[in-house]
Amino acid sequence: MSCLFCKIVGKEIPATVVAENDDALAFRDIHPAAPTHVLVIPKKHIGSVAEMGSDDAALLGRLVLFASEVAKKEGIGETGFRLVNNTGPNAGQSVFHLHWHVLGGRGMSWPPG
Ligand code: AMP
Repeated sequence: MSCLFCKIVGKEIPATVVAENDDALAFRDIHPAAPTHVLVIPKKHIGSVAEMGSDDAALLGRLVLFASEVAKKEGIGETGFRLVNNTGPNAGQSVFHLHWHVLGGRGMSWPPG
């Protein structure tokens, strides 16, 4: 049985898609933590950064470029945005399909809690 985000890629469950290309999808987080909160995922199932292989290096580059395009499209390219990836239990990963949170539209503190 495919994972939650694979089901979104397969349009088995709905999502508010804001951008898409051959190997990535961007859709709004269902529980936004900022005025702009979009998730960028590969269409290919990869569980987390820790599960990426050397074959995924080019895909990783394309995902980050895509996330930057999404941020600009969302109007937060100039004001600034945060790309967040949570990997594993201590980081709070809750969906085990690789994703970047694109967060913006408000000031954010550092370090994160
Ligand atoms: P993480 O905790 O880093 O694994 O992030 C998973 C994110 O997925 C959380 O911010 C959730 O709010 C979000 N999320 C879970 N289910 C959905 C869904 N069906 N559509 C959109 N976002 C979701």
